[in-house]
Amino acid sequence: MTFSIHGLAVARGIAIGRAVLVASSRLDVAHYFITPAQIPTEIERLRQARDAVVQELQRLQHDMPKDAPHELAALLDVHLMLLQDELLAKSVKHWIEDRLYNAEWALTSQLEVIARQFDEMEDPYLRERKADLEQVTERVLHCMKGGVSPIAQTRPTSRPQQELQLGDTMDVPLVLVAHDLSPADMIQFKQSVFVGFVTDVGGKTSHTAIVARSMDIPAVVGARTASQLVRQDDWVIIDGDAGVIIVDPSPIILAEYAFKQRQGDLERERLTRLRHTPAITMDGQKIELLANIEMPEDTKAAMQVGAVGVGLFRSEFLFMGRQGHLPDEEEQFDAYRRAVEGMAGLPVTIRTVDVGADKPLDEARHDAAHLNPALGLRAIRWSLADPAMFLNQLRAILRAAAHGQVNLLIPMLAHASEIRQTVALVEQAQRDLDQRGLAYGAVRLGAMIEIPAAALSLRLFLKHFDYLSIGTNDLIQYTLAIDRADESVAHLYDPLHPAVLKLVADTITECQRQGKGVSVCGEMAGDVTMTRLLLGLGLRSFSMHPSQVLAVKQQILRSDTAKLKIWAQRILESEDPAQLMG
Ligand code: PEP
Ligand code: MG
Repeated sequence: MTFSIHGLAVARGIAIGRAVLVASSRLDVAHYFITPAQIPTEIERLRQARDAVVQELQRLQHDMPKDAPHELAALLDVHLMLLQDELLAKSVKHWIEDRLYNAEWALTSQLEVIARQFDEMEDPYLRERKADLEQVTERVLHCMKGGVSPIAQTRPTSRPQQELQLGDTMDVPLVLVAHDLSPADMIQFKQSVFVGFVTDVGGKTSHTAIVARSMDIPAVVGARTASQLVRQDDWVIIDGDAGVIIVDPSPIILAEYAFKQRQGDLERERLTRLRHTPAITMDGQKIELLANIEMPEDTKAAMQVGAVGVGLFRSEFLFMGRQGHLPDEEEQFDAYRRAVEGMAGLPVTIRTVDVGADKPLDEARHDAAHLNPALGLRAIRWSLADPAMFLNQLRAILRAAAHGQVNLLIPMLAHASEIRQTVALVEQAQRDLDQRGLAYGAVRLGAMIEIPAAALSLRLFLKHFDYLSIGTNDLIQYTLAIDRADESVAHLYDPLHPAVLKLVADTITECQRQGKGVSVCGEMAGDVTMTRLLLGLGLRSFSMHPSQVLAVKQQILRSDTAKLKIWAQRILESEDPAQLMG
């Protein structure tokens, strides 16, 4: 039966595919596609693990003391029966043979299918058998992982390196449906087969959503119960423009969306023709279109769309998901140098690490005890709390500047003392490199304006920095006191709130008055519905994901900044700017 689920539109376009459900706890199990040649090996691995667990349970049964409660014997019987069920084994094999899932993934996929059937059972005794099935599955998984005792009930804690990677023979499009995905999980999927994403939680500018957008495939977040309502292997349509998921669509709906999908592809095709067109408005204003990247490899996409530099390299993605092993100076230097070389002489703005809030370093370090992680030890606060680690990063960035034009960007500053400490550490890093006789280059020093206190202290900031970059994602979050990752307050996350617009407008005006560079690198810069307003407010430098550059350029080519300036002033003075946006 067809039904739809509503969430928040994150990344444009239509995706049609079969659902792959990955419950977040299941991410602890390796998920990857195998080749057809590996099918027998995977089936054999599964068989061996199952046989080992059967033997272990039979031994337990045999050694059971006479006075053991009879429920225990009955439990072992149930577990053995489940393990030896041929139908179950056949269903798991289907995921391996037809979907090319690795054995662990096949087993957990089938577990989810059966768990759902158990949930629907009326008989409470039978319903409770779900827990048995889960325990048996855990045992087999543990055994496949090479666990010493398959009886141990521990869940593996370290995340395997090899996760959802490209399956080379898959011809069924797949969409990923999960309760939640961390930004680090999401970055793993950049090379994956998935044609779309759905998560239950998350706001439009949560970092998970940002990474999904950078992948340029349809995605919906904040879909609340999607991972419970969608079943493994259901056909699903993701409408990334409307923020809707259609489950089990009828042939007519499918045909309609397939048509929309083709229209979207054609529109993108048309946009690629703008790649070499200079971004100049109708009244001759030259606009700088820069790229936001998460990894050095993303520079390829930036160059492909004709970005004239990188306006934001979110360096924290080099630090995340590494179970505490932070990248040292050499590893960072290598990554930054690759980004600089990837841009072939164009400027690269490297932002120092911004972990914390919805970007935990890894799950183990995600300290739930911090009640307000977005207001806690995040970004520059985290860097200044560990000067040795920060100096590693600063030296690596300065060394990369010997290979091309580099701008250094500092996130989340608010206090004069933080500015002083940061500047002192940059000088210290330069002295260290002098002492070690290592080459480094000059950098322009910039600050992000993403806390209202910073936007209200522009004179202080402009005394110390060469340029400012407005992080609208956080500026909105902190101005309106709305957690950007919380879907329950997403309706109040308003880029057009007069207070937000005033802070953005004042920052642009003050920078221009003082002849300093200013850009916007938050999601607002890549939102085509905001392009004209930002131009009207005087913005001439935009930084966004490569996937958004051409659509924004199209808007710029159709704009007249002189006219937009007057309109933008009216919007700034309005109590309800959304009404005037038109
Ligand atoms: C922002 O806050 O707007 C920004 C660009 O930084 P991030 O999204 O990484 O917090
Ligand atoms: Mg930010």
